[in-house]
Amino acid sequence: MRVAIIGAGTAGVSILRELVKYNKFNDMAIDVYDNPDHLGQGVPFQNDSQELLINIPSDQMSLNIDNPREFYEWYESQNEFKFDNPEYLPRFIFGHYMKSYLEKYNDQYSNLNIISKEVTEVFINSKIGETDIKYHVCTSSDMKECKIYDSVFLAIGTLSYHDPYHLKGTQGYIQTPYPTYSTLDDVNDKDRIAIIGTGLASLDVIRYVAAHHPNLPISVMSRSGNLPSVRGDMPEIEFKFLTPQVFNEIKSQRFGNVPLQEAIELFKKECKRFNLDVQSLIHRKSGKPVEDLEYDLRHQKELGIFQSLLELVKENMNWIWNSFSHQDQEKFLREYHHILKANSNPMPPRTAQLMIKGIKNGLIEIKKNIKDVYYDEKEEKFNIYFEEDNEKPHIYDVVINATGSKTHLKDLDHDDQLVINLQNRQIVQAHPLGGIQIIPETNQVISPRYGTLHRMYAFGQLTNGVNQSRNGVNMIVKQAKSVVEQMLN
Ligand SMILES: Cc1cc2nc3c(=O)[nH]c(=O)nc-3n(C[C@H](O)[C@H](O)[C@H](O)COP(=O)(O)OP(=O)(O)OC[C@H]3O[C@@H](n4cnc5c(N)ncnc54)[C@H](O)[C@@H]3O)c2cc1C
Repeated sequence: MRVAIIGAGTAGVSILRELVKYNKFNDMAIDVYDNPDHLGQGVPFQNDSQELLINIPSDQMSLNIDNPREFYEWYESQNEFKFDNPEYLPRFIFGHYMKSYLEKYNDQYSNLNIISKEVTEVFINSKIGETDIKYHVCTSSDMKECKIYDSVFLAIGTLSYHDPYHLKGTQGYIQTPYPTYSTLDDVNDKDRIAIIGTGLASLDVIRYVAAHHPNLPISVMSRSGNLPSVRGDMPEIEFKFLTPQVFNEIKSQRFGNVPLQEAIELFKKECKRFNLDVQSLIHRKSGKPVEDLEYDLRHQKELGIFQSLLELVKENMNWIWNSFSHQDQEKFLREYHHILKANSNPMPPRTAQLMIKGIKNGLIEIKKNIKDVYYDEKEEKFNIYFEEDNEKPHIYDVVINATGSKTHLKDLDHDDQLVINLQNRQIVQAHPLGGIQIIPETNQVISPRYGTLHRMYAFGQLTNGVNQSRNGVNMIVKQAKSVVEQMLN
C-alpha cells in the first residue's frame, strides 16, 4: 500500500508513530511531505524564541496517550537543551521531541521516504465509470512529477491568518507573528507598535518583546480587550453525568439528537459536584486587565476546576458536538463558545505576572473597542480607530497581526492554495460551521464528487466544523491512534 502523509507536525508525526506499531506497516511505502522549516515540528512547535511556552505542564503533554510524561522524560534524558524552570518548557523543545521520532523512523525504516517539499495539489484521476480511487499528490505544476497513492493523510495544520483590515502586503504590517524572533527584525526602538488581537499569539509577542526589547512599549488591542484566563490548579476529573451512556439514552428519545439545553444542564450538574458558582466564574471579567489577571491568580482552586471541566468537554467534543442538531450547533457557537474559548488554553501564571508588571510600569497597554485600521501612504503610518474616540485615530508605525487563523473555506486566499485546489477539484467541500466535511468517527473526507473517500483522512484545524475546539496535542494524538486502528484492523 502506498501512503502519503501531507504535513509533518503533531498530526503527521502521530500518524506515523501509530502506523509503525502494526505488522502491516512493513507492506507499506510511506512518503511524508512538509517544508524543511516545519518538517517534524509543525507550526506551533517550530524553532522560535524560548519565551514561547507550551500551555500545558510539560509532564502532561506527550505524543503517547499511555504515557503523558513521555515528552518530559525525553527532555530529561537529553543534554542539548536545559532550562531552569521546566514546568512549562518552550514550545520548540516539544518540536524537537516530535522530530526525534521522525528522524528515528527515517533511520530505521527503508520504506519511509521524507520529501522536504510542500504539496500543491491532490487530485483523483479515475476513468469514467471507474470507482477504484487513487490519489495523485503533486509538489509542482508538472503533472509528470505527481506520485500516486492508495491512502492519503491530510495533516496540514491551521489555515492561514485572518487579515481583518485588508492590510496584507502593506509595508510595516506583519501578517503573522511567527517566528517571533524574526518578527521584529525591521522594527527600530522608536517605532510605535500595535498588536491586533489579545489572544495567545499576542501573548507570545509580548513575552518575546519583554525578553529582547525590554524598553519597547507596545499597545495590544482587540474588540473585547479581554486577555486569556490564567491557568488555575487543574485537577484530574472524570464526568459523572455528561457521558456517552446518558447521551445515547437522550438520543433514543429525541430523534437522534441531544438538545443543547439538556447538555448544558448535565454540565451544570458536573459543576455542582464541586460547588462551583458558575455564573460568577463566567461573568468574572471586569474589563480591567490587571484586576482580571489578579482575580484569576487569587482564585486558582475554583478556576482550575472550572478549566478542567471545560478541558474535559473539549476532549469529549467529538461525541458531544456531533450529537447536537445543526440549529443547536449554531446556537452553541453563538451563546456558549466564547465561554469555552475564554477559559481554555489558559496562560501559565508566570506569564500573568509578566503582564501585570508590564501594564503597571506602562510598557504594555491593553485597549478595547478597536473599530478600524487604515494605512496612510503619505505619512507611512497606521491609523487605528476606536469606538469611543470620535474619529481621532491613534498612530502607529508597525502593526502585528495576532488575530489567529481562518476557520472557513470561504475566507481562503493564495496562502491556502492547496485547500483551494482541493475544493476546486471537488475532493473536499466546506462544512457549514468551518473547515471541511469529514466523518466524525473515522476522519474520512467526504467529497462532493466521489462521496466518502475511504482512504483519505483529514486532521487538525482543517476539520474544525466537526472537530469543534479539539485541536490540542492530546486530542490530535487520540484521533491519530483511533484512525490508524480503524484503518488497519
Ligand atoms: C501558537 C500556537 C500554540 C499552540 N500551543 C499548544 C500547546 O502548547 N499545547 C497544545 O496542546 N496545543 C497547542 N496548540 C494547538 C496546536 O495547533 C496543536 O496542538 C497541533 O500542533 C496541531 O497539529 P497539526 O498537525 O494539526 O498542525 P501542525 O503541527 O502545525 O502541522 C501541520 C504541518 O503541515 C505542514 N503543511 C502545511 N501545508 C502543507 C502542504 N501544502 N504540504 C506539506 N505540508 C504542509 C506545515 O508546514 C506543518 O508542519 C497551539 C497552536 C498554536 C497556533
